[in-house]
Amino acid sequence: MPIRLLSPSVSSKIAAGEVIERPASVAKELLENSIDAGATIISMDLRGGGIENLRISDNGCGIPRDELELAFRRFATSKVSDSIDLDSIGTLGFRGEALPSIGAVSTVTLASCTREQKFGSAINVIEGIIGEKTDHSVSNGTTVTVQNLFKNVPARLKFLRSEATETSRIHNILTRYAMAYPEISFDLRIDGKQNFRSSGSGDLREVIASVYNSKIADSMIELGSGDITVDGEPSVGGMICSPYTNRANRSYISFFVNRRWVQNRMLSVAVEQAYHGFMKERRYPITIIDIKLPLTDVDVNFHPGKSEVRFSSEGNVFGTLQRSVRDALSSHTPVPNVTHKSFRVQHDHLQASGLKFWPIEPFIPSNRQSPNTSPIVSDADSPQVKESVEVTPGKVLPVLRVVGQIKTTYIITEGPEGLYLIDQHAAHERVLFERIKNDMSTDKHPASQSLLEPVLVKLDEVHKELLSEHSQILLSLGMVIEPFGDSTYLLRAVPAPLGDIQPEQVLIEILDTMNEGGGFDSWNERAAFSVACHGAIRAGKVMSREEMEELIRQLEECHQPNTCPHGRPTMLELSNKQIEREFGRT
Ligand code: ADP
Ligand code: MG
Repeated sequence: MPIRLLSPSVSSKIAAGEVIERPASVAKELLENSIDAGATIISMDLRGGGIENLRISDNGCGIPRDELELAFRRFATSKVSDSIDLDSIGTLGFRGEALPSIGAVSTVTLASCTREQKFGSAINVIEGIIGEKTDHSVSNGTTVTVQNLFKNVPARLKFLRSEATETSRIHNILTRYAMAYPEISFDLRIDGKQNFRSSGSGDLREVIASVYNSKIADSMIELGSGDITVDGEPSVGGMICSPYTNRANRSYISFFVNRRWVQNRMLSVAVEQAYHGFMKERRYPITIIDIKLPLTDVDVNFHPGKSEVRFSSEGNVFGTLQRSVRDALSSHTPVPNVTHKSFRVQHDHLQASGLKFWPIEPFIPSNRQSPNTSPIVSDADSPQVKESVEVTPGKVLPVLRVVGQIKTTYIITEGPEGLYLIDQHAAHERVLFERIKNDMSTDKHPASQSLLEPVLVKLDEVHKELLSEHSQILLSLGMVIEPFGDSTYLLRAVPAPLGDIQPEQVLIEILDTMNEGGGFDSWNERAAFSVACHGAIRAGKVMSREEMEELIRQLEECHQPNTCPHGRPTMLELSNKQIEREFGRT
């Protein structure tokens, strides 16, 4: 085929595809436009996951009547004047691509009125065709209505998730911006019902209470003022949660750079490292962190979605962020004296200190080892042990005699071949995991603990969707929940192993862990893992001899006693031969 120029209708759809990936991208672009317009009140109304209809109104500066067509032309913007400006972008928008992209893949009506105009005007754009302007009675500001998104791009439509998922993504973006701009009042209506509102009072804690709840809001720790320091160094503002409020996944860690919501792994690592030692392993904080730095030190023109940024001095930003979080935590929390380090860390440490007798490989019962055994030690984020592999049941551990507990974390036991050091948390996690999976597959009545008084739990969109999709699984775990109007649910019973956790926390914890997956494909395994993970005895718990003996007995019954559900070792072996060798007896 000869080379030909694509027709404008095809090229505009291709370009639009980069900026507008899903309904949430429309919401994000329109929210950013309203914020850039200086609005103090922004309301959004959506139906059918934002695909059928998404409307946003603001009281910002408006668009003059004679610029309405231009606003829908590609690369037309009022925010950047020449190439010099690209080095120092202070507005959320600057690419002049959002309105034309949205216009290319939907039916849009934009009505606007500036403060100088007496009457407003409106313009229609239908799948890229700009219509005539009309007079429109509208108060100062702009209202954009987007309908039938992707009707002319069926391929994109096919890849969208359920309406509920798309709605929850939009909810997520709007609430993130509400936390970044507490001085703006945001309002979200979903299918005609009010879903979220912030007052615009400027109080971040108040917004956090509306997004999460007032208990979390009260426990949040303030970071610095977040103003750029005189010497142009980055500065960190916002709030972080106390180590006692934590979550099972990273989705509650929010970052803004110069008040732009960004996703950046490096920033996340800095925060997680700062929490190390303050927070339990595999738990994540809730943060709303705004990093301010000179506009010339950050490149926002990196991706059409503008949610990825590059820093000219990444190390500096990393260090400053980590220090501010660490300082804030240190001055608000006593350092816990029991830290729970990973096997890898302990292993490195032991090697470095010259202690060479602990085996590098965890103990693997000999009747299980095959020539192609894959590595057992794996990262928490990339578990390699697939639980779906069929294993012959039967005792695979020798009979172990409990000797005692050390560091209130490990149980020392003696077997015929040597000593075994057992991680009490990992071992109990394995026991619970197998028991719950077994109960689920045999339709056994789940071990459930009724609450003396039912507890009201408020769920956000993500949790609501998970709950409706997996209600049967939750019931099979022993979780009894009833809808109680809007986003509220009544929790009547919780899985027995989670009886010690605050009931309001249980449901959210389980949903979060299930959502994160823990590396398991099947939802049953995800569910079993989340109860095991939250219900297992913690490191730091003093155990009586009877409790230790009972745990070891239960571990002996397991199909795969040598690893926790994540594939990390539950035990290390120090063989009699090694002991004798080290003491020079052989
Ligand atoms: P960008 O935001 O990158 O400039 P857009 O396509 O999103 O590009 O918008 C084009 C222009 O339309 C903006 O530069 C701005 O002048 C105007 N505009 C868009 N939305 C609004 C709004 N809600 N209020 C005022 N002006 C707006
Ligand atoms: Mg824009």
